[in-house]
Amino acid sequence: MQKLVAIKGMNDILPPDSARWEWLEDKVRNLMARYAYRNIRTPIVEPTPLFVRGLGEVTDIVEKEMYSFEDRLNGEHLTLRPEATAGVVRAVAEHSMLYDGGKRLYYMGPMFRHERPQRGRYRQFHQIGAEALGFPGAEVDAELILMANALWRELGLRNVRLELNSLGQPQERQAHRAALIAFLEQHIDVLDEEARRRLHSNPLRILDTKNPAMQAVVEAAPRLIDFLGVQSLAHFDTVKSILTANGVAWTVNPRLVRGMDYYNLTVFEFVTDQLGSQGTICGGGRYDYLIEQIGGKPAPAVGWALGVERVLELLKEQESAVPTPVPDAYAVIPSAAALPVAVTTLERLRQLGVRVQMHAAPAGGEGMGSMKSQFKKADASGALWALIFGEDELARGSVVVKSLRDGAGAQSEHLLDALAEWAPTLQSPR
Ligand code: ATP
Ligand code: MG
Repeated sequence: MQKLVAIKGMNDILPPDSARWEWLEDKVRNLMARYAYRNIRTPIVEPTPLFVRGLGEVTDIVEKEMYSFEDRLNGEHLTLRPEATAGVVRAVAEHSMLYDGGKRLYYMGPMFRHERPQRGRYRQFHQIGAEALGFPGAEVDAELILMANALWRELGLRNVRLELNSLGQPQERQAHRAALIAFLEQHIDVLDEEARRRLHSNPLRILDTKNPAMQAVVEAAPRLIDFLGVQSLAHFDTVKSILTANGVAWTVNPRLVRGMDYYNLTVFEFVTDQLGSQGTICGGGRYDYLIEQIGGKPAPAVGWALGVERVLELLKEQESAVPTPVPDAYAVIPSAAALPVAVTTLERLRQLGVRVQMHAAPAGGEGMGSMKSQFKKADASGALWALIFGEDELARGSVVVKSLRDGAGAQSEHLLDALAEWAPTLQSPR
């Protein structure tokens, strides 16, 4: 049979790397609890109309990145979620979660986009996101940004800068859009093919171009921020002053527009220069009109999503140490006859919180394998201790505990009956 391999751009996450993922997820859970955000889990497959909403601009995602298909059994149009905000909003509306006030939610999980795979850009990638629904005030925008900032600090990430912008309200955006299109039409000869295509479908996105030939015209284009009214500006000012008061540095990037079409007022990105062109590790903003767009009762909302692969890549780039889990002890079992007592003893140790790896008979060998090969495995496991279930000791109702690290070789014999007394000495601090 032909060798089966994973789909391009969709990665296996293997040990020891997966430990870095678990470490990050633990940090996030701990952080979310401190900000009182609760976990939400929504399906990976959603009805396509959740993402193709008719209203709004034509985004890259809807235009060319979605994995969509028809359910073979009933012809329903389905899509692998390219992001989770729309699904969270659907769930919030579907279950009337805002009936007793605002909700703070977070999620973690895989997203799917048909992009060109490269460093920091995959077809199955993972996001961790936080959403606060039902709160109109700038203090919640700021809370979310402070929370992301706290995460970078607690992960030990450096060189991440915060860019802010305000997209104002739909009417302000409409006025700017008209002015922008009129301006760009005057410079149509400078626009590249993609920009011409976007001129009427998503002109704001043109401002985000990386094409050097278009920089001059983009710099001179009407700026959205100049079209904002007093209320929008006041909202933006409040966000900025809360951040400043809490020691978070920011810059305004008037060209920051974000890939999704549903944002209004505050938008932001956390960016690094250390990941090449895939430098955005987290992005978000306010989306006060999304709930009604998908048929829910209108409610304000704001959130962000971070790219797990990019955050982990940046940690690696900065050579941050991430603890790898190792067992406290490795059970060396010279002969199969010792297995019943060994297995039972290990179960008791694990109940007491000790991390123990059991030596198991290797494939293609005879019996449990030689003592030499077992000790080699014990060393490789990273354990501090070997537990040796030798025949003579077992006959005396005891087991040998041997140090594999500091003072390697030192060993002592312990009674199985008194296990609860010596088990804690095996545990490394954690
Ligand atoms: P980009 O401009 O890099 O394409 P985006 O604006 O499409 O990003 P969002 O939809 O805002 O990204 O998603 C939030 C975060 O998810 C991004 O900041 C990034 O860290 C991560 N991300 C987005 N697309 C991918 C991908 N294809 N592979 C890996 N991470 C991704
Ligand atoms: Mg993108």
